[in-house]
Order: sequence, then C-alpha cells, then structure tokens
Amino acid sequence: MSFPSLGLSPALLLGVNDKAYVKPTPIQLAAIPAALQGRDVLGSAQTGTGKTVAFALPLLQLLEVKPMIGVRRPRALVVVPTRELSTQVGEEIRSLGAHLSPALKVSIVFGGVSINPQLLRLRGGTDIVVATPGRLLDLVAHNALDLSFVEMLVLDEADRLLDLGFAEELARILALLPAARQNLFFSATFPPAVQTLAQQLLRDPLRVTVTPEPLSEPDIAQRAIAVDAPNRTQLLRHLIQQNHWSRVLVFVATSHGAEMIADKLRKARINAEPFHGQLSQGKRSQVLADFKASRVKVVIATDVAARGLDIALLPVVVNYDLPRSALDYTHRIGRTGRAGESGVAISFVSAESQAHFHLIEKRQRLNLPLEQIAGFEPTPTSSPVAAAGGGIKGKRPSKKDKLRAALSLRA
Ligand code: AMP
Repeated sequence: MSFPSLGLSPALLLGVNDKAYVKPTPIQLAAIPAALQGRDVLGSAQTGTGKTVAFALPLLQLLEVKPMIGVRRPRALVVVPTRELSTQVGEEIRSLGAHLSPALKVSIVFGGVSINPQLLRLRGGTDIVVATPGRLLDLVAHNALDLSFVEMLVLDEADRLLDLGFAEELARILALLPAARQNLFFSATFPPAVQTLAQQLLRDPLRVTVTPEPLSEPDIAQRAIAVDAPNRTQLLRHLIQQNHWSRVLVFVATSHGAEMIADKLRKARINAEPFHGQLSQGKRSQVLADFKASRVKVVIATDVAARGLDIALLPVVVNYDLPRSALDYTHRIGRTGRAGESGVAISFVSAESQAHFHLIEKRQRLNLPLEQIAGFEPTPTSSPVAAAGGGIKGKRPSKKDKLRAALSLRA
C-alpha cells in the first residue's frame, strides 16, 4: 500500500514526497482512510510509529477541501502535553501542508514564554492550532482564540496529558468546542482515566493498535555497564572520548544532577549542556537547536526529554541514572535508532541500582550482560551511595513525582 492509495489530495502527496516518506506505517494505513471519511479514531500508539503523520494528513485535508470563508478561526485543534511536542507536531503539519493553496496557517502555542508575541501572531486568525493546555486557555481568556469553530480535535499523548495533571484544563477546553466535531485520540497506554476520557470523547471510533515496538524496528544495541555510582561522570567522560561519540543524550534523575554533570564535562572540555524543566523555554529551545546543529555534543537531560523528542542522527543514549519504570526506559532509548538509523543505549548500573535494573530488564524481557570497563571496575563492596534522585524508587512515579514533573514542565 502506498500513500497515493490512501485518498490523499495531490498537494498533500507532494508534502509527503518532500519528507521522503515512501510507505505509510501501519497506523497511517489504518487511521488515514478512516479519518478522511470523517470517523473518530482511537489510536494506541507510541512515538516512533508515525502517529503524527497519521493525524496531520487527514487534518490538513479536511481544511483543504472545506476552505473557510470570511474570518479565519481555528478549525483544527491539536492538544499536546509538552512544549517540545507542540513544536515538533506543528512543524510536521506545516511541512506536510506546504503545497496547499491557499496556504493554511498553523499556530504553535505553549506556556513558559511571554504570551504577547503569541497574541500578536494570532491576530488575523489562524486555521490550525497546536497547543499545550494551559496556554491555550490563557489565549482564549485573552480573546485571541475562539474555539467554537473547531471541526477536528486531536489529543496527542493523552496518557501523558493526564499524568501531568491536565485533566481539569482538558475538561475546560472540551467545553469550549462545538459538540459536532471529529476526534482523533492517541495514547501510548490506556489506564482507566484515559479510557474514561476516550469514552467521553469518541463516537464509534476506529480502534487502531500498533505493537509497542516502534514500527521502524529500530536497531538499538542495548548495553549495561557496572560502575560505582561516584565514578559515573568519569566513566561517561572516558566513553565519550574513547568512542569519539559525535552526539550523546544522557539521562539523569534531577535538574540539579543535569547541571552538575554538564558542568563537570565542560571543565573537561567536552561541550555539554543541561536540559530540564527548570530552564526557560528559550534556553531549552536553544540547547536543542545547538544539539541538532552539532554545536553541542552532549546533552544531560531529565525525563522531560524522554518522550517525543526527535533528533536525527543521535547515535548514543546513556542512562546515567536509571529511569523509574520500564516504560520510561523504552521512551528514553527510543531517542536513538530513529528513522532507520542504528543506535546504542547504555545503562550505568551501580550496586545500589542493580535490583531496579533487573526489574526493568524483566519487564523488557532483556537479559543484558553487565559489562565492566577497564579502570572503572566496581569495587566488590561498593559504598551504598544512593544514585542521585529517583533512580531506585518503585516502578511507578508517586503522586509527588508527577506533581514535580508537571510543575517543572510548566515552569
Ligand atoms: P512519530 O511516531 O509521529 O513520533 O514519528 C516518528 C518518526 O517517523 C518521525 O521522525 C517521522 O518523520 C517518521 N515517519 C513518519 N511517517 C513515516 C513514514 N511513512 N515513513 C518513514 N518515516 C516516517
């Protein structure tokens, strides 16, 4: 099956061609024709499955075939949990719709930055809004957006939206939308709260489930290295230098850890930057842009960067602190090996975090040999220095963890 057989317009096929997408992924094959017929869709899919394109193309086609006459008001709304995702999704929609004539205006709005430029950009109207929930409501409160003409709603990463405590904002947004509309709903997991939301929202949806593994079958070599917790920064430095890694994403448990390790690497003349929820949005965007442009070699990030980020040519991901859950592990390592490239995911395992690592391995059905690196062999009776932050907590984030994550994201 090819893109032209899905019923897409010639202008959108040109957009697909520009992106060099040759074959639709399974979620695109299933969701696009149904959505083009106006059906609601319930997609059970993670990032890496091509879900963004699966909703972006029907959304663009809906607006292309039914052009708005008169004042421009948003007719498609995509709600996403994070700023990074809003930018990624908005840009994907823009590039896929680049050949539409008349052009559609795509507005990307998120919190953590001044509202004024966003207010200005919304003057004169917009066709498609990609937004995080809080800022969307702020813009409505400023009379910059009128959601009463929305014909298509996309909820992307619904589980994460609820995890981050956006249930109330979502309810308020839904109350502003017309009842007659098409809904596309995507989530990686379906805990009861997500199921309830889906039931409230969707009418006779087409259910599409794609296997948990990303469909591009990423080629990710997973490794585990035994090391005493206090020696991890030195080991990281050693690995970066020995292997001549061009670009490395390192995950840590806390913002403080990210700052500290980046600082130490910089002192060793390795170009490293922290990336976490307490940085301003401007700084976060700058770090990502520098990383993508190879101006920064190492990014030390909290789980803020674990989902959704799409960095081409990222050969290595390191779990300096282990993730809290097996699902977070999947998200973190999924940052490498994207779009058909190969990648390496390395986890540092100390005596204190070994039991937790075995839990992750069990859930992932992995059994990795615990490697040792010459000069960094763990001492047989290593001192019980706890790995920084939440690396060895239980497998599920606590309420406090979720709140903290939400606050840091919205900070
Ligand atoms: P997503 O699941 O939306 O996060 O997409 C994951 C990655 O797959 C992104 O880098 C997309 O550019 C890419 N992608 C989406 N659809 C296709 C396709 N049909 N063929 C190849 N790559 C794709």
